[in-house]
Amino acid sequence: MEKYLVKPESKLSLRKHNCSDTGIFLGNKAKCRKATAALRDELVGLQDVLYAQHKYKVLVVLQAMDTGGKDGAVKGVFEGLNPLGVHAISFKAPTPVELEHDYLWRIHSQVPASGEMVIFNRSHYEDVLVVRVKNLVPAEVSDKRFGHIRDFERMLSDNGTVIFKFFLHIDADEQKKRLQARLEDKDKHWKFNIGDLADRKLWDDFQAAYEEAIERTSTVEAPWYVVPSNKKWYRDYVIAKVMVDRLKALKMTYPENKDDLSKVVIQ
Ligand code: AMP
Ligand code: MG
Repeated sequence: MEKYLVKPESKLSLRKHNCSDTGIFLGNKAKCRKATAALRDELVGLQDVLYAQHKYKVLVVLQAMDTGGKDGAVKGVFEGLNPLGVHAISFKAPTPVELEHDYLWRIHSQVPASGEMVIFNRSHYEDVLVVRVKNLVPAEVSDKRFGHIRDFERMLSDNGTVIFKFFLHIDADEQKKRLQARLEDKDKHWKFNIGDLADRKLWDDFQAAYEEAIERTSTVEAPWYVVPSNKKWYRDYVIAKVMVDRLKALKMTYPENKDDLSKVVIQ
């Protein structure tokens, strides 16, 4: 999955990333789905030991253009994990109370505790994406945020948080198809947001903002992955594979019981 990793200090051109890439599966959806199912089983095991060991914390950041598949990825990758140790949170436009605080306030209060896995559906990155594209705060104010974010994530990492950041990359044609599908299916109307059409007009500005944000915040401790996401099944595979590989490398173990259980007799 190295080819999707944005190396720290490297330049990123999203245009050069093929959103329809299907990697080793060469378009074979059934084979890919099978591989993802096996990875999900592994992830279930890894999360079980994460929860039991209570040593690490896992934070997953999902960012994408509208219809990019953040909700779908949450279902497709994290289905079957133990709800005791996992939760997902969606960050919307900040409330008046949130706006009275610094922009990381609402984020920091949701980061995972020991043993937990938390999935951010949108995140503090909105504060350097939509905020910069739409000039919601002066550029000289938002420009400082890249440094804040790097420092914030390094602090989380120093405190045992394993951070995954995924940009689910679709192209404009794919977004058009997905918006059209939402329009044509009454059961999907609740997902259709007229405001998304205004954002779509700003496609190039958003892509440029993503490039800058990803370049400036992909670090060794909190790297970004650009996930080809036109094919939902490959998107899920890439996320699951990156996570399983990294979590396995932690070599997490179940804690020992301090009592001598060999003498215990249950009456
Ligand atoms: P959705 O994820 O489709 O429900 O939409 C949530 C909306 O909230 C998106 O349009 C985001 O751009 C917006 N949003 C999330 N965080 C922020 C933020 N920090 N500042 C401004 N808008 C935000
Ligand atoms: Mg939206």
